[in-house]
Amino acid sequence: MNKKTLHWMMIGASAVMGMLVCWLVAGQVADRMVLHDLNDTVRGQSQLSLATADNIAQIIASDLSMARAIPATLAETPVIQRVLTQAYRLPEKRAAQESERRARLLAVPALRRADAFLHDVRGFAGLDNMWLVDTNGLCVASSDAFERLSCVGVDLAGRGYVKEALLGAYGQMYAVGRVSGENGVFLSAPVYSDGTLVGAIVAKIGLRRLRHWVAAPGSFVADENGVIVMANESRFEGYRLPGARITHMDATQRFDSYRRSSFPVLDIAPLRPRMARSAPWVPAALANQMVELQAAGPPSLYIMRNGINSGFSVHLLTPIALWQHLVDERINIRGLTFAALMGSLLLAATIAASYRREKRHHGEARRLASELQASNAQLSAEARDDALTGALSRRYFLSLLQREIDAARTRGTPLCVAIADLDHFKQINDRFGHTIGDYALEHFVGRCRTVLRATDAIGRLGGEEFAILLPATSLAEGLAVAERIRDTLREERSPRLPDAVDLRVSIGVTGLADDDTLERFISRADRALYNAKAAGRDRAAAFAAHVAVPPSNAAVHR
Ligand code: GH3
Ligand code: MG
Ligand code: MG
Repeated sequence: MNKKTLHWMMIGASAVMGMLVCWLVAGQVADRMVLHDLNDTVRGQSQLSLATADNIAQIIASDLSMARAIPATLAETPVIQRVLTQAYRLPEKRAAQESERRARLLAVPALRRADAFLHDVRGFAGLDNMWLVDTNGLCVASSDAFERLSCVGVDLAGRGYVKEALLGAYGQMYAVGRVSGENGVFLSAPVYSDGTLVGAIVAKIGLRRLRHWVAAPGSFVADENGVIVMANESRFEGYRLPGARITHMDATQRFDSYRRSSFPVLDIAPLRPRMARSAPWVPAALANQMVELQAAGPPSLYIMRNGINSGFSVHLLTPIALWQHLVDERINIRGLTFAALMGSLLLAATIAASYRREKRHHGEARRLASELQASNAQLSAEARDDALTGALSRRYFLSLLQREIDAARTRGTPLCVAIADLDHFKQINDRFGHTIGDYALEHFVGRCRTVLRATDAIGRLGGEEFAILLPATSLAEGLAVAERIRDTLREERSPRLPDAVDLRVSIGVTGLADDDTLERFISRADRALYNAKAAGRDRAAAFAAHVAVPPSNAAVHR
């Protein structure tokens, strides 16, 4: 695997990791935001549900206590007590058939008056029916006595509320009317005459009149056997609550009260197990508050309140508002957050990459610039200095000389130039080798430097020939400098040169004349050198400024 493939594989792996992290973080963000809303919704909704359920329980309790008051009050009235005392004396009531009994009872004038009385009271009290039973549980008078179907003559001894009243208690029971087939609440009170129980008075209030109990959406009311008797959604009426008492009752008992024997269960189950699978982002504490109806439908809140002393229980099952909205919202938020995170990551990666590239380019450019600077410096040094001896290069020296000529003229100071040529140098090379020759050249320049001032300059004109620039120096002083160079060369030996090397030099010196050109100035010094050579070498010779010298053969042209 080459380096480039590895590089791209690393980038790919980082991208996948980045995407994964963004996806997880986006999930966390979405969960947090949606859970916050869900919490608020659930809290608000359960508070509202509790208040609603309490309110319904209160209404039920007050409706029933008002309804209970009517039979209880009538039981105290002499007219009712008297009627039951008379009815009690009917000798043939047990033996006869229901229709026959009804006919006989309807024929008793006192009972007919009682029927009319009950009919009026029923109308005033807003009840569905009222009737009187004797101590045997036989209905002797009824507010519906004048109707085709009535309770009169019906044996009601088996009914729970009759039993209770005949035992001296107030009875209350939800049931389906045997005669009317309509369901309602049956309320009974015992009737005494002179301290003796003479029968009971019963009132029925039809559930139709109590439908306001389940006006709230999702509300339903169950009786003490756990049968749903009234529901906002009427399809649930006749269902039983899970674990209701009705399941333990036998078929006869069921039929007696409800005129039916099968009660499907209203399956209100905790949602948590399903939630853990379908919406794991909902924490257990929150999922625990939710239920589902019939193993389907949206998550709902379920509130139950026992009716205050009414025998009824109030239930409220409300789907969690916004549930679907929150589920969709979570997906949207996750998608958007993921996109935003990926965008930022991409931007950051782009910025980092371009920053790195810039830095690399910048470093490269800096390196190139410094290399260029170094090579320029080297080049200019090479152009200025002679590599072997460290003296100025010929070209640089001549340009410096021109500047010094101009400066000397401006300042009106004298200027000397000397040309030095090593004697018999060819022989040194020939005898000791070229390397020793090179050492000798270096040694000569070194010796010159010990004599020259900082303002003086020495340049190599070529081979073993050097020129020396002496600003603000008269010809005599220039000649003295030449002599000092000769002296030091003779006296100071180089450790690198063999003892047999006897380095000597001939020097020609001249001063600047007013009308000198650079060529003429140099030529005159060259001429003086020539004279020194001609006179036997190892000496210095001077040429005064006024001496004319032909420009040919000048060092400047070599
Ligand atoms: P003269 O006394 O007349 O000046 O005799 P000379 O031998 O010094 O003069 P010539 O001009 O005949 O010889 C100069 C010699 O200097 C020839 C050449 O090999 C040598 N030379 C020139 N440049 C260099 C150099 O850079 N290094 C070395 N080692 N020798 C050089
Ligand atoms: Mg020479
Ligand atoms: Mg020479």
